Amino acid sequence: MSFKKFQLNEKVLAGVTAAGYKKPTPIQDQSIAHIMDGRDVMGLAETGTGKTAAFVLPILQRLMQGQRGRIRALIIAPTRELSEQTHEAILQLGLKTKLSSATIYGGVSVVNQINKLRSRVDIVSACPGRLLDHIGRGTIDLSSVEVLVLDEADHMFDMGFLPEVRKIVKHLPAHRQTLLFSATMPSEIRSLANDLLNNPVNIQIGNSAPVMTVSHKFYPVQTEQKTALLKDILKKTDTQ
Ligand code: AMP
Repeated sequence: MSFKKFQLNEKVLAGVTAAGYKKPTPIQDQSIAHIMDGRDVMGLAETGTGKTAAFVLPILQRLMQGQRGRIRALIIAPTRELSEQTHEAILQLGLKTKLSSATIYGGVSVVNQINKLRSRVDIVSACPGRLLDHIGRGTIDLSSVEVLVLDEADHMFDMGFLPEVRKIVKHLPAHRQTLLFSATMPSEIRSLANDLLNNPVNIQIGNSAPVMTVSHKFYPVQTEQKTALLKDILKKTDTQ
């Protein structure tokens, strides 16, 4: 079945077509309709399953209606790489929507982020530490957030971010949609989900293979040879 069954806005569907997605992955198949219905979702799914588009598409769909220029969707992730990937997915899938996306993470200029936040932003992908910093400085307004996504929640726990996540949530409207994605479900994530999610739909993608656009290879190598090997692979591999 194609993405047509979700009855996405034509501008959102145009992003799906431009990205070259032909049919939904299992996590997309099972979660998009529920998220579009406004339900909270707890998704047990790894990176590579297409979980980013599973939450990005319903967010784009929701934001096509209503006022622009206020942060209405907030995605919290453990690493800047993941925040960047999510931002890229929003730009790609939202190409025709004219919705604005920004990233917030540490290790880069805070001033540029403040300037970006002062302009019209609809969606923010953030890491917990720098986001709390902006909250403390009063440089981000989260009072309009309608959708909160906690991505790779188990990694956030591993990295010790859960206390920060809980602090951030106190600054969000209580009436909102919350989506939590995690590859594993340790008890700490279960209790976070109990506290933050309201009657969630539970979706579990059992041992699902990575999507067709991702291929995996395994090279046993000494640590000190990793960089040279990576450079060599990048040189010899045809990528898009
Ligand atoms: P993710 O699990 O969200 O990190 O996605 C892994 C990769 O799968 C990304 O490169 C996506 O662009 C790609 N992808 C996501 N959904 C689909 C789909 N329905 N068909 C083909 N590729 C997809």
